[in-house]
Amino acid sequence: MSTPTSSRPPAAADRMTGYDLRSLMPMTAEIRDGHLWIGGVDMVELAHEAGTALYVMDEATIRHQLAEYVKWTRYHWPDVDVVYAGKALLTLAMTRIVAEEDCCLLCASGGELAYAVRAGFPMERVQVHGNNKTPAELTECLDARVGRIVVDNFEEMERLSALAADRGVRQRVLIRVTPGIAADTHDFIMTGAEDSKFGFGLNQGLAMQAVKRALALPGLDFEGLHMHIGSQIFALRSYAKAIEVMVAFMSQIRAETGVSVRMLDVGGGLGVAYGVPDEPSTVQEFGKVVVDGIKAECEKYGLPVPRMAVEPGRSVVANAGVTLYTVGSIKQIPGIRTYVAVDGGMTDNIRTSLYGAHYEALIANKADKPRDVVVTVAGKHCESGDIVVRDASLQSPETGDVLCVLATGAYCQSMSSNYNKQVRPGVVFVRDGQWRFSVRRETYEDLMRTDLG
Ligand SMILES: *Cc1c(COP(=O)(O)O)cnc(C)c1O
Repeated sequence: MSTPTSSRPPAAADRMTGYDLRSLMPMTAEIRDGHLWIGGVDMVELAHEAGTALYVMDEATIRHQLAEYVKWTRYHWPDVDVVYAGKALLTLAMTRIVAEEDCCLLCASGGELAYAVRAGFPMERVQVHGNNKTPAELTECLDARVGRIVVDNFEEMERLSALAADRGVRQRVLIRVTPGIAADTHDFIMTGAEDSKFGFGLNQGLAMQAVKRALALPGLDFEGLHMHIGSQIFALRSYAKAIEVMVAFMSQIRAETGVSVRMLDVGGGLGVAYGVPDEPSTVQEFGKVVVDGIKAECEKYGLPVPRMAVEPGRSVVANAGVTLYTVGSIKQIPGIRTYVAVDGGMTDNIRTSLYGAHYEALIANKADKPRDVVVTVAGKHCESGDIVVRDASLQSPETGDVLCVLATGAYCQSMSSNYNKQVRPGVVFVRDGQWRFSVRRETYEDLMRTDLG
């Protein structure tokens, strides 16, 4: 273990209270008697009863976000599939909520597909993507009779067609295209540029070759095109530009093959607020840009308007979730910074060390007090980079306080690990004053379950 140092001067405390962080919180968040409540549940009591570290998800916010996508896309065009990207957060309870909200499910692996199967998710509403689906995963997709597979490369197309033809079926497929749009986001989560491991590029004719091959292969039913330009995108203009490119390609497909593309899936990626100054576009604005953009471009080329799909992940769950920790050791390094250590860290939230993500936090049992000191919230793992929040404004943290990190509903539990043999936190869903474990906390037994000794 090395000693963390920083050349950055400590930031000034912002004196905000929990009230000022409302834009980052679940929609049911409120402050009662100095405590933070979510879904009608006192977070301080919950931390004591359920134990920390703990992921808390507000069911009302999740359902609201899914419903917003359904409403504001179908408002402009009736045939839109809202396909929730399960990799952001997937539990069996979450899978059932997605089904109940009339949405589809996007799976990125055989494991995610297994959740859909176990939850009894309607299989015709499952869509599977990924840049290197294994032969076993393709077989699992066909066994489960998933609605659509997003094909990503030539080998996969040949293999999938052969497997499907063997069973006497034609699998509906979308072809993933990289529209060559560099979305304004972090390099690791930017996926729509020409130099990407995902999909077929347009410039060298690969995407057209892929479409022609899909049309020729007996086991494939070419339904349409898919794109996904990245994640945490704030500029809707990136979508509008990518849609122009994709519809121009649809026109080219019709000219060269006579085939009208039946479906255009524009992927996910809508940004969310992690900090108070963040002002992401609303689902309503996103829906309008996407649907109106596709309609207008199709009109320009005289193409029939296809069925559409959007694939939100982060924007459905990020702000619906928080993580509760208990404050442990507090280390003041004079003139440098104060480290406040919690009972979790990079094993339950890797995004700070992986992307330099910034989070806001508050002390749940002092929610109405001003956040008047700046500290670094560190995890308990053997890495100096194990930081949860750098320069966190907090209400004078003390050992035993319940620290609540906001907007952790997406890509935290789903990216969690057992490093240091840390047991993963449970996931609690709150709703109407009730709470229940969707995923229980792991035990040491769970850690050794697969170890053959
Ligand atoms: C990750 C992913 C999504 C969801 O992205 P968000 O940024 O979470 O909305 C959608 N589609 C594909 C293909 C993805 O890989």
